Amino acid sequence: MPYTEDRSTWFEGQGLWQHVPESDWRDWTWQLKNRITTLEQLEQLMTLTPDEKAGCLFASHKLSLAITPYFFNLIDRQDPDCPIRKQVIPRAGEQQIAAEEMLDSLGEDEHSPVPGLVHRYPDRVLFLVTDRCASYCRYCTRSRLVSNAQDYNFHPEYEQGLRYIESHPEVRDVLLSGGDPLLLSDKKLEHLISRLRAIPHVEFIRIGSRIPVFLPQRITPALCEILKKYGPIWMSIHVNHPKECTAELRDACERLSFAGVPLGNQSVLLRGINDDADVMKALVHRLLRMRVRPYYLYQMDLITGGAHFKADVRKGIEIIAALRGHTTGYAVPQYVIDAPGGGGKVPINPEYLEKITDDEVVFRNYEGKRFTYPLKSTPLPAAPETAPVEQTPATTAPSAR
Ligand code: SF4
Repeated sequence: MPYTEDRSTWFEGQGLWQHVPESDWRDWTWQLKNRITTLEQLEQLMTLTPDEKAGCLFASHKLSLAITPYFFNLIDRQDPDCPIRKQVIPRAGEQQIAAEEMLDSLGEDEHSPVPGLVHRYPDRVLFLVTDRCASYCRYCTRSRLVSNAQDYNFHPEYEQGLRYIESHPEVRDVLLSGGDPLLLSDKKLEHLISRLRAIPHVEFIRIGSRIPVFLPQRITPALCEILKKYGPIWMSIHVNHPKECTAELRDACERLSFAGVPLGNQSVLLRGINDDADVMKALVHRLLRMRVRPYYLYQMDLITGGAHFKADVRKGIEIIAALRGHTTGYAVPQYVIDAPGGGGKVPINPEYLEKITDDEVVFRNYEGKRFTYPLKSTPLPAAPETAPVEQTPATTAPSAR
C-alpha cells in the first residue's frame, strides 16, 4: 500500500511520559538519564517479538541498546514493522555475519595517524571526538567503536588531533563526528571548536550529528550561541523516515538555522524502513519544511551483522528517479555508495545519458523523452542575395507615388 501521511500535523508531546514535569521532559540531561537501556525496561513498555528479544540479549556484544524516551515515543508498539522500531530495537539478524561484511567497512583505522582522527582525503579530516550517542542505530557504520560494546577501547586524543591538524596546512575542512559530538558538554565543545577556528588554514568546520533527531532538547540556546560565535559551522543531521520529523525536531532545526548553521540531511537506505519512493518523497518534503537540505542518501555500508538492513541498489536508483524532475530539485539527495574498504563516496545515478559523441549529447529527461544537445556550433545558412532597394526621396509622401 502506498505510504500516506497527514502533511499538516507534526507529532509532538510527551506520549508515555505524561506524568513527568514538562521542565524535566525538555531537559536533555533528564532524557539521557532516563534512556531505555535494558531488555527489562523495554519489556515494561512494549511486547517484543522473539526476534527482537534475541537481538536485545546479544546487543551488549555488538552495540549497546539505548533509546531516549523522546525517540521511543515515535515507535508504534503494536507494529513489529514500525520503521522507527527497526532502527533502534536490536534484532537477531545482528548475530549473523556474512562473508562480505567488515568490522571497519570504510577502512578508517588504517588512515588514522592519531587516535580518533582519520585523514584519508588530502584536504579534510574526520575527527571522532566521542564513542557515545544518545540512542544507538542498529545499522551504525562505526558499531565497532560506538558504545564500546566490542571492547574497541576507543580513546580519542583531542590534543594530539588538534596538533595534527595545526601541523598539516593542507587540511582545510574538519568534520567533527563520533559517536555524537553534540553529546559533549558545551564547555568541551567550545574548547574544540574555538581551537579549530583559531587554525588559519581550517576554512570549513562541520558537525555530523543525530542529536537533533534523538534528543532535540540538547539544541539549547546556549549551544546555539556557541555555534553562532564560531560560525559558519555546517551540520549534517541524520533522518531516515518522515515519522522522525516531529515538532520538536522542526523547532530544533529552526534554532540551529537562526544561529546561522546550514543544515543538510544524510539518510541511510534501509530495507523495510525507507526503501520506498513514497516514503522518501514524504521525508524530503518534510526536511525542506524544516530548513534542512537533503544531502546524501547512503547505500548501507557492509558492516558486520547488517545484512537484514541491506536494500537493493536498484531500489535506491528507482527512488532517485522518482524524485528527480518530479519534485523540487533542492529535495533530491545524492545517492552514493561509500566504496567498501575506503574508496570514498561514489555517486550512483539513474541513467539519463544515452550517447555522447564529438557532435552531440543524447539524453532522456525525467519523463523518458529523448533530447539532443549539440556540442558543435553550426553556422546559420547564408541569407539569400536581395536586389538593391531604389531610394525614394524622403520628402515624397507615399500617397504621392
Ligand atoms: S547516531 Fe550515528 S554514530 Fe551514533 S549509532 Fe547512530 S549512526 Fe552510529
